[in-house]
Amino acid sequence: MDTRKPQQVASLVDFKPVHAVHRLYAYRKSLSTKAFSARGKKLIRCPLCLLGTQFCTCAHRKPLSSDISVMLIMYDDEVLKPTNSGRLIADLIPDTHAYLWSRTQPNQAMLAQLVDPQYQVYLVFPEQYVEQQVVFNRIEKQAQQSDKKVLLVFLDGSWRQAIKMFRKSPYLHQLKVLSISSSKLATYALRKGSHDFQLGTAEVAALALDAAGEPLNGHALTAWFDLFVESSLLGRNRRLKSTIVPISEYVDQFNLAYNQAKSSNK
Ligand SMILES: [Zn+2]
Repeated sequence: MDTRKPQQVASLVDFKPVHAVHRLYAYRKSLSTKAFSARGKKLIRCPLCLLGTQFCTCAHRKPLSSDISVMLIMYDDEVLKPTNSGRLIADLIPDTHAYLWSRTQPNQAMLAQLVDPQYQVYLVFPEQYVEQQVVFNRIEKQAQQSDKKVLLVFLDGSWRQAIKMFRKSPYLHQLKVLSISSSKLATYALRKGSHDFQLGTAEVAALALDAAGEPLNGHALTAWFDLFVESSLLGRNRRLKSTIVPISEYVDQFNLAYNQAKSSNK
């Protein structure tokens, strides 16, 4: 007899959703007829950060000050995946909105927000996939209309899914595009010691915050991402004891980056 809890996620009832991705998670879960089967099924997960309860980072989560708004358009069950990093953006950027993508029935509130005159909207997407749209590598402060908030839109899923979402969503083809420059991507990959340019959504967002004039907020998001990755590797026993850097060092790094961002001008 299988005595494991059916979903291996601690009950949401005991936790209050804090932001848009938590709420979308609860909603998407209510649509599921079967439990989402993630790797590391035996791990009991916190329903907010989706890390193993023993490695939960919720106590460290705190919002930055940002003039930038974010919209996450999430592919199908992306919001249920413990590896999803879009939620990390919502953890730190207070004005973050999250919607499920639908090819045939796009969310009406999402469409309304994309044409809301209070926002200056940029789709964050690689320029090589874009044909007709105006592409920027930076959003200069002087180009920002003072009466409008910059809204950065991210397509959250695998790259293949993001490209599909883009191609099949005509309303995205009207938007200005913010594309992270290849030199910035190369610098980032070098710093990370990675040869892989397939960045997670939170990493792309960190570079986009920098390109939109909030580099310290970008650093804080990168540090939050690093803490998340380390915590999830520990949860999956993917770290050799001899190579483990204490998790408190990742927490310290995040707190340092967070304090720098809060005390100076983003
Ligand atoms: Zn947690």
